[in-house]
Amino acid sequence: MSKINILPAQVYNRIAAGEVVDRPYSVVKELVENAIDAGATEIRIYVEGGGKQLIRVTDNGSGILREDLHAAFLPHATSKIAKADDLDRIMTLGFRGEAVASIASVSKMTITSKTADGGCYSLSSDGGTIGEIQEAAGENGTDVKVEMLFFNTPVRLGFLKSDKAEETEITNFVSRFILGRPEIAFEYYVNGKLVLQSFGGGEEEALVGVYGVNTLKECYQIDADKHGVSVRGYIGNQNFSKPNKTYQSVFLNGRYIVNSTISAAISGAYSGYLMKRQYPFYVLYIDVPTEIVDVNVHPNKADVRFADNQIIYGCIYSVISAVLDGNAKALDYIVSNSRVSDVPTAPTPAFTPVPTPVPTPVEPKKEKEETGFSFSYEQAQAELKKLAPQVVSPKSASLPTDELPFAVSEKKQSPAPIKKEVEPYSDLTCEKVTVRVNASEQAETHDYFEENKRFLAEAETKAKQNRIEISSCRYAGKLFNTYLLYERGDSVYLIDQHAAHERLIFDRLKAQMQEREVLQQPMLVPYTLSLNVFEAAFIRENMENIRQMGFDLEEFGENDFKISAVPLDLQYIDLGKFFNEILGNVNGYRAIKLADLLKDKLASAACKAAVKGGMDLTEEEVEKLFELMDGDMGLKCPHGRPVVARLTRTELEKMFKRIV
Ligand code: ADP
Ligand code: MG
Repeated sequence: MSKINILPAQVYNRIAAGEVVDRPYSVVKELVENAIDAGATEIRIYVEGGGKQLIRVTDNGSGILREDLHAAFLPHATSKIAKADDLDRIMTLGFRGEAVASIASVSKMTITSKTADGGCYSLSSDGGTIGEIQEAAGENGTDVKVEMLFFNTPVRLGFLKSDKAEETEITNFVSRFILGRPEIAFEYYVNGKLVLQSFGGGEEEALVGVYGVNTLKECYQIDADKHGVSVRGYIGNQNFSKPNKTYQSVFLNGRYIVNSTISAAISGAYSGYLMKRQYPFYVLYIDVPTEIVDVNVHPNKADVRFADNQIIYGCIYSVISAVLDGNAKALDYIVSNSRVSDVPTAPTPAFTPVPTPVPTPVEPKKEKEETGFSFSYEQAQAELKKLAPQVVSPKSASLPTDELPFAVSEKKQSPAPIKKEVEPYSDLTCEKVTVRVNASEQAETHDYFEENKRFLAEAETKAKQNRIEISSCRYAGKLFNTYLLYERGDSVYLIDQHAAHERLIFDRLKAQMQEREVLQQPMLVPYTLSLNVFEAAFIRENMENIRQMGFDLEEFGENDFKISAVPLDLQYIDLGKFFNEILGNVNGYRAIKLADLLKDKLASAACKAAVKGGMDLTEEEVEKLFELMDGDMGLKCPHGRPVVARLTRTELEKMFKRIV
């Protein structure tokens, strides 16, 4: 029997590296994921020579302490396992502490890092030989430089594609990060030139950042909830097709995935509109109850498995086809948006939502979370069973097929599994990006980014001008104690009283915050917050912001804070809960955007305080509410749903077949 040899760490790492990092794009993926894990809100990515020469990722995240810097280079060294709640999470997010060690063993790597309270230090590794920690200069956050990738594994190096091809795959990856993490600002440089840029301002901005303004104009923005499956994002209109499938991204529960059931459902909905070898454009954010999805198909693969494919297929198919076919449900699903309604060729849904050019930052769907998924999922299953024998073709039915959530044609009900194993990243090429890179070589990059910025700024200005003269409106009654009807010329405006009120309260709170004219309500008995070291550090760092919101906050004793006044508008909130929520999200990271958290809190406070749908308002109250809206028909509630919908006389007459 041969003797068992313990492999020297360097050799072991080099072998293991093959699993974690096989191509330059996987290095980019690991480094960006580390930056995200560190709570970064700004991430810059630099690539040279297709990533073979240089990959550099800098972030403004939590940084690495001097005493942890060496450990970061060791295999199985991770600061995250202790935080991860279960093995599942560890597996899926790849918290195995292998990436840095693996990359270091096959490259020349330098990590320079600074924590908020500590100094800035750097440490290098040359093919896995770790050097000495040096003092360095740098901003808060981490700068990871990987040079000469695979220099000591010539066989692997030989397997890489051309610089251009490797670069294209990296660009694909970065695009997905931008779309998948729209709250993070990214800059991506290829051979010194800025190729992609996002500003961290939400999904619409991210879409503009990756695909440009003109693509956005060709899209419907949708937001639908179907049996506990939430489908949000952008889908190309009926006339907007792409020559290949690289313009399709799905983020399931926040994670980029490729799944045959989902893509079959979407293709099915588009089948009547697109010709052979034309493919739809979409960026979809789908959320499903975690208990119905298995993400552990393979930690490095982007596929997932669903407990029931038909449910997923049915939900997605019915939402997308309702929007494309323009059936009555479309209004529920389309987020009103001027760029969407600019599209002249798209069939209008029965009701036309009022155009709103406001870029919509992503708001967490508080209400949806609260409804609880499991009930509606079971409901959906029950419905599916009932419906199973009747197979109806959605295109032939004249009534909204939407009421039959799984009324898909026989063929579509059991989507054929994609035969080829989907290799999510390696076989995708993104032509758009290639074009962009070429464009950058012609020094047009600058204009492109300028165009995006200008567009976003104009959209905001336009939103402010989207007003009508309120004296020209006549109150025409209300429906279901929820929708207020106003007639004006050839239009009827339907106003959701709850959404409208919510919006108004939200605006007021925000304006007060911005003008710092917050009215304070002193407390009879001060409230004491007792925090741990990390929480206290976070509060200390954000003290000014919190004070600006209207809290009178003071530190006393060790890690204790005294609150002696609260903003008048929030005087009834549960302070313990409020701060728990803020601190719960902090998780030891200092780079979180407090402003965003506070905005969420404001939104939910506004929601709780607003008049509800179904509440019988007196005519005086209705008038008051309408007056407060000040003719702004482009409003959206703080969750991004429209406040007003417009029904035109023509649309009504079409309904009654007076005109066709
Ligand atoms: P893992 O991400 O699985 O923990 P890695 O090898 O990718 O393992 O990283 C090792 C450790 O190095 C991380 O756990 C983290 O503590 C630290 N680290 C790596 N990159 C960063 C970064 N950009 N910011 C802060 N810490 C980092
Ligand atoms: Mg990692």
